[in-house]
Parts: sequence; structure tokens; C-alpha cells
Amino acid sequence: MSFVTIRVRVDPDNIDGGVIDGAADLLRGGGLVAFPTETVYGLGCLAEDSVAVDRVFAVKERPQHDPLIIHVTRSMDLTGVVAEQSALFRSLAARHWPGPLTMVVPRGPRIPPTVTAGLATVAIRAPAHPIAEALIEAVGAPVAAPSANLFGRVSPTTADHVLEDLAGRCDLVLDAGDTTLGIESTVVRLESDHVVVLRHGALPVDELDVECIEGSARDSESPGQAVRHYSPLTPMAVMDPRNRVPLPPDGGVYLGYDETARPMPEGWEFFPLGSRSSLPGVAARLYRVLRSIDGRQPTMIVAELTSRAGLGRAIDDRLTRAASGHVLGA
Ligand code: AMP
Ligand code: MG
Repeated sequence: MSFVTIRVRVDPDNIDGGVIDGAADLLRGGGLVAFPTETVYGLGCLAEDSVAVDRVFAVKERPQHDPLIIHVTRSMDLTGVVAEQSALFRSLAARHWPGPLTMVVPRGPRIPPTVTAGLATVAIRAPAHPIAEALIEAVGAPVAAPSANLFGRVSPTTADHVLEDLAGRCDLVLDAGDTTLGIESTVVRLESDHVVVLRHGALPVDELDVECIEGSARDSESPGQAVRHYSPLTPMAVMDPRNRVPLPPDGGVYLGYDETARPMPEGWEFFPLGSRSSLPGVAARLYRVLRSIDGRQPTMIVAELTSRAGLGRAIDDRLTRAASGHVLGA
């Protein structure tokens, strides 16, 4: 474990090549570097270095059965990284990479089984963030990177969030301010002519232009997608707008939308997540709001579901997991 975590500010519009080269050297030497992607901050290590991979699991306190996503660039040679590049893989990569689409495909021999929790498949994506792309390019090899938070906690969308959880536990944080999308990538498993959706995320699945089948929540199908995940410390529940019920009497903070602002009962504060007609804005601020409201230690947080399609599915999934599946009135 590192005792000191260095934080370096990097401007995505004017990247300091020396900083990126230093970060790449750290990774190649077995170090852990937190870096921004367009979704959330990742805690990166060299995917081919199983000792470094073990350190990532240890510092995050992540269970060994929860596989990591490996991050590549669009132009990287994936021979030996994935076992085969099917026509569907190539077409989805051509259309959606770099971007928030993670594809689960047969694992190649370059990726140690520790990365994938022993599975014969590997989850892979090419992030669309200038810092992430420059870093992976400089490393010249896949970077395994789960979200840079303690396991089960709310994913980080700023360098401050990373340090709240991991100060002293990684070598370097590249700080490029807020991430733009704010929630994790969409994860799909590729079959010959369709995909199985393992996690809804920042890329709405209706934009995939391929048949999508919902994965079951069975652990063997979607390891790591436990119901309790992405959670604040404050007790939390969600409200389904199609089944409104009275708020609990002890008070708390109600996370709603501009359109659903309403007088609150005694002891409750209304806090808007944004407008339901602009779900990208809601996704971008979701984790920042959850972390800051959590820090105020209210009695309870109740979050209203968007009950919308597209990105709304991913937002509702994260809110429900943050609430450990508790739905008021259900
Ligand atoms: P993250 O916590 O954002 O790094 O995402 C990792 C998640 O991707 C895991 O919790 C799994 O749900 C999914 N995942 C990664 N690798 C695989 C795999 N080989 N098979 C199925 N799901 C995977
Ligand atoms: Mg995570």
C-alpha cells in the first residue's frame, strides 16, 4: 500500500505529456493510478500484472469474485487480449468506441484470470476521455480499472471523491475535474447475433442497434451486480412516482426533479436532481449529490425514480441499488 497519494491537476484540453508519461511509468512499474474517464474515475493498474491487480482488489476491499473492466484505446492491437474479435464486436466497437460501452467477450491469454475473477470472459471498453486515452496510449497495454471508490460506496465523479475513499491507498490521482457522464458504462455480453444486457449504464441500450436481451440478476451471469451497491451511508429508499406513498415521519432529504417539486411535509427537505427532460444532466450530478447529501448525515434519503426509458433505466437502477432495493410502499 502507498502511504501518500499524489494528486496532480491535468487540463484535458492542454495535456502535460510529462505528467502522462510519469503516470504511465508508475503503471508499468506495478503502481496504482486513479484517472478520469467520461463515466466515473477509475483506479487503474496494468491488466497483465496480476500482483498489481491483486492490490486493486485489496485497496478497494473488493470481493475477488467481482471482475474488473479492462480499458484499451481504439487503435490498440487486441491480439491475445480478447480470444476472438467477432463481427458483432468489431461493428459495436466501430460505432460506440471510444465511449461508455463495455463488451464481455472471450478472454485472451494476455489477461490473467485474477482480472476476470477466474471467468473465461473479459469485460473491455475504450474510454472517451482525453486523459484516459493519453494514459492508456502511453502505457501501450490494457489498463484494468474498476471505479476508484471503496467497494459498495458511491462511485467517484471528482478527484475529491477518489481521495475521500482512497487517500493513502493509491500512488497518484490525475485530477481533471468533474467527469461528464457521471454514471458507469453499459455492460453487455456478446452472443453471435444479439447482446445480453448485464448492466444498464451511460449508453442507453436502444442506441446499440442490435437485439438486446435482459440478463438475469443471477450472480453467475452478472457477477458483482449485487443489489446493494453504490450506496451512501445514510439509510435510503426510493419512491416510484407511479405509486406515491406518504414520507416516513422522521424527516430527511427528498431527491426529486424540477417537474416534481412540491411542498414537503414537516422535517423533509426537497432537493432537485435536475430536470426529467434532461436525464444526462441528472446522471452527471447523481453521485455528486448523493455524496454531498450523505455527508450532511440526514435521518434518511428518499429518491424519486425517473420512471423513464433510455438513460432513465440506468439512473433508476443506480438509485435502487443505492437504496439496497428499498422501495417506499412496496
Ligand atoms: P466496475 O465496478 O464499474 O468496474 O464494473 C465491473 C462490472 O462489470 C462487474 O461488477 C460485472 O458486473 C461486470 N463484468 C466485468 N467483467 C465481467 C465478465 N467477465 N462477465 C460478466 N460481467 C462482467
Ligand atoms: Mg464500481
